[in-house]
Amino acid sequence: MAELPEDLPRLWTLRKYLLLQLAAVDRAIKQAENGITEQLPTLPRFAVAWRFTPAGTPRLGILHTADCWMAKGARLTIREVRELRKHPGRRIEPCDTCDPGKEQRPTP
Ligand SMILES: [Zn+2]
Repeated sequence: MAELPEDLPRLWTLRKYLLLQLAAVDRAIKQAENGITEQLPTLPRFAVAWRFTPAGTPRLGILHTADCWMAKGARLTIREVRELRKHPGRRIEPCDTCDPGKEQRPTP
């Protein structure tokens, strides 16, 4: 095996990377054995930060990518963000900082 780093942060990062690689190999083995493609769960890649708005005006949420430094609260899947947008009296706009890409941005 290659030489390992000595510090904990890099060791934990390496461990996580190897576990992800192992999971990918396990999926490939399962697919090769069964001929079935496993559906991966939709990853939570967004967060909505709600702003205070005056009573009687639509609730305003700012859509962030999950890794944006301004993102707070629960991480949401694209499906969950779409459900939030369906709710009347809400408005969700993209963050100017992380600018969740148009190809990533959930559409109603
Ligand atoms: Zn953001």
